[in-house]
Amino acid sequence: MPETSTEYPNGGIAIVGGGIAGVTLALGLVNRGIPCQIYEQGRGFAEIGAGVAFAPNSIRAMRACDPSVYTAFKAVATHNLWESKCADITQSRKGLYFDFLDGYHDTDPSKPLFSLWNDEGANSVHRAHFLDEMVKFLPENIAAFRKRVEKVEEVNNHVVLHFADGTTTTADAVVGADGVKSHVRQSILGATNPESHANYTYKYAYRGLIPMDKAIAELGEDMAANSKMHLGPDGHILTFPIDKGETLNVVAFTTTREGWPDLHKSTRAATKQNALDDFAGWGKNVTHILSLLNEEVDIWAIFDMLDHPASTYAKGKICLIGDAAHATSPHHGSGAGFAIEDSAVLAELLASPDAKSPAGIHAAFQAFDHCRRPRTQWLVASSRRTGELYEWQAKGVGADVEKIAAEAHDRFEKIWNGDIAQMIAEAQTEFQKILEYTEC
Ligand SMILES: Cc1cc2nc3c(=O)[nH]c(=O)nc-3n(C[C@H](O)[C@H](O)[C@H](O)COP(=O)(O)OP(=O)(O)OC[C@H]3O[C@@H](n4cnc5c(N)ncnc54)[C@H](O)[C@@H]3O)c2cc1C
Repeated sequence: MPETSTEYPNGGIAIVGGGIAGVTLALGLVNRGIPCQIYEQGRGFAEIGAGVAFAPNSIRAMRACDPSVYTAFKAVATHNLWESKCADITQSRKGLYFDFLDGYHDTDPSKPLFSLWNDEGANSVHRAHFLDEMVKFLPENIAAFRKRVEKVEEVNNHVVLHFADGTTTTADAVVGADGVKSHVRQSILGATNPESHANYTYKYAYRGLIPMDKAIAELGEDMAANSKMHLGPDGHILTFPIDKGETLNVVAFTTTREGWPDLHKSTRAATKQNALDDFAGWGKNVTHILSLLNEEVDIWAIFDMLDHPASTYAKGKICLIGDAAHATSPHHGSGAGFAIEDSAVLAELLASPDAKSPAGIHAAFQAFDHCRRPRTQWLVASSRRTGELYEWQAKGVGADVEKIAAEAHDRFEKIWNGDIAQMIAEAQTEFQKILEYTEC
């Protein structure tokens, strides 16, 4: 941990996990003068997977968390390649989020079933590139690598972290940003509590990258250069440009009845042929996209916490953010964006002069839990439902395009309209209420 101070006699806040949640929180804390240390199980900061998209609420949260997060994002963000599909405030033009197509029947890709537009349009980054850019703004030595946390426990006025290598360290408080299989979550809720574990949703996704020049040559410019979502029975495929337009990102989801073979692992190796088999009988646009994937591809299992949501994100001086708190399926494309909202709210709470004592940190974590749980757990439920809408499985909706469009529109608006300034203000009000109540 960093040097001790009178405010933080145990060196400050330990952040477990150096993914998007952990790194954005660290940037938010460092630049508010709050000492912190990241403990990451990997050999360095590294993101696996390919593209991740950010919506208007997430972009506002980046600025509120720390300007460096937004700077890092802008350095690597890719929009739709056609100007007419990009947001332009000077022309009061919204940006295209996705064109939705019927992927099962051969429909004309230039005539989408419907489209969703928002204030920022499609904004995607290559995960590893975004993380690399953010890490440039972190002070040296803020992270300790190959430190896998197995357990955290509160002892008197500090918290002890136990690592898999047999060592321990202390901190004034711990934030678990250790992702979907969080160990910090287990320390708060109990290892045998079903709330401590995300469940397989019986959906998995093939993820692949296609060089953009090849994608344009094969699929045509609109299909390759702009974000498209292909809907169909028990599956959906999305494509959008990343790497400043150099690469087309492909994510192909399918529903299965079979369990995931190894619940300790999120990915497994597969082949292009497996993907083509899963989408046999689909329209030619979809089979054409899949035929452009490499022969070897990865499959990602989709887990979420809908069946047993965490009853709290905080206990004493231990708190959860990001997927550790509210692992969601990715059908709203908002898990990482909500992790940044978490970081912005928590950094602001911890920056309060009243949050510098053990009782203050405790109250800040309680306020965080109270204010963040409803919105983030709604996301988990809404994301599942949205996956069902895309795959023509939603009760009362099926393949009815008008109903799918109307419901998807309403759900996305709730995400995109998220006002980070209001979220922070509400959390601060709640924090003061908790402090007053504790002092009585
Ligand atoms: C297919 C797919 C597509 C997605 N698309 C989008 C999208 O477009 N937009 C979006 O906003 N979100 C998207 N998401 C969700 C998003 O990826 C996650 O919500 C986000 O990455 C969560 O970040 P995190 O930092 O909380 O967790 P993670 O990214 O999982 O990071 C956790 C970190 O903690 C470390 N760690 C884990 N356990 C320990 C331990 N015990 N000790 C120490 N370190 C540990 C890990 O090594 C890792 O570095 C998608 C997810 C999937 C699966």
